[in-house]
Amino acid sequence: MNAARPFVRRPLPTFVHLDADAFFVSVEQVLDPSLRGKKVAVGGGVRGIVSSASYEARAAGVWTPMPVAQAVRVCPDLIVVSHGAGRYGEFSRKLFDLCETLTPFVERRSIDEGFLDIAPCGFADTNAVAAAARGLQRRILDELGLPVSFGLAATKTCSAIASKLNKPRGFTLVPAGGEAAFLAPLPVGVLPGVGKKTEVILKANGITRVGDLTTAAEPLLASLLGGAWWEFVALARGEDDGEVVTAEADAKSYSQQETFPQDIAEFDIVLGHARRMLDELMPKVRADGKLARTLTVKVRYPGMIDDTAGRSRSEASDLEGAFFPLLETLLREAWRRPRTPVRLVMVKLSGLCEPSRQLELPLNITTGGAGSGGVGDARRRRLLAVVDALNAEGASGRSSASRPRVSHSHNTGGPAAKPFPPNSWTD
Ligand SMILES: [Mg+2]
Repeated sequence: MNAARPFVRRPLPTFVHLDADAFFVSVEQVLDPSLRGKKVAVGGGVRGIVSSASYEARAAGVWTPMPVAQAVRVCPDLIVVSHGAGRYGEFSRKLFDLCETLTPFVERRSIDEGFLDIAPCGFADTNAVAAAARGLQRRILDELGLPVSFGLAATKTCSAIASKLNKPRGFTLVPAGGEAAFLAPLPVGVLPGVGKKTEVILKANGITRVGDLTTAAEPLLASLLGGAWWEFVALARGEDDGEVVTAEADAKSYSQQETFPQDIAEFDIVLGHARRMLDELMPKVRADGKLARTLTVKVRYPGMIDDTAGRSRSEASDLEGAFFPLLETLLREAWRRPRTPVRLVMVKLSGLCEPSRQLELPLNITTGGAGSGGVGDARRRRLLAVVDALNAEGASGRSSASRPRVSHSHNTGGPAAKPFPPNSWTD
């Protein structure tokens, strides 16, 4: 919420949140129809965790993320399918490609969740909005075989809450203006930002439902929720000015994000993923002849709750080594709920500018470190141009079998460059 700007509600429920039902299992059932209607779990991997369970398996007591061994104990006839790397991304792309036939304004939040803004489609009334969304839901089922739940509302947050209510194959539409009435009877924990701990504290103080937030005394709310208490009250009233963020809207930056098949609790593993992303982004910055000043790191916990940290360097750079120490610092800052595992990490470079002439021609005799714009940087940049070209060649498939890809991190020697987890950068 932006306190300086009055909230203006849309006249129609044109925020659509879609969330595939038991996505990994659904994909496996498309690939092997004999699995349909059965107690199926997708799982395994290094930590042996159930990452998706069919609704039949859930009815038998299987949940995510439950250890596979335990799942088989509570449900002895459970069919466990090992996590099929590769195909999930392909189905995810097809799912969002279908969404883009309805509207270009699509925000891919994770492999199986996203927001659509269908306000620019010019629908005349709520019935027309609902018909268009139902048509998309049917196409996704008919053409891809994927069951998906939809939530429609005039605010982004309400649409995300609505899509979870009637799974699987849910279709929940909140009429414009009816947000507060829709939210009031729901448990207070459905609001983004109200985690399990906060929910327990609120309940102990008589605030069990979202509607209770709108009637509780302000001093009580301030003592329980801190300075941002009014943001929760605004959400409870259905006042939320979140917009759908498309890739185009964010074109003035370079970003990459990764959703993990299982939530990760270990800092070093997430840092390894973040380093690899920075390693992959920086060659794109260099290829476009740009320098970046700002680094942002975002983590997402289960329940679509995000925490972000970002900082700008005093000088822009296009070298990995200039940003590596900052990356670790920012990941620690962003991950401010350290006992909560993360589901997704995003790395973004922004604050872009064109290099100045002095940076290209080493006329100023300085011996500064990475990113300071001195002679060392010019040399490093020439070396990296060769490395980038080698990597591009490897990525295109030519001679990739005989020659391993080169990792930039080994060449820039960033001060915080620790070993990567095995294979995290090879592809
Ligand atoms: Mg889902």
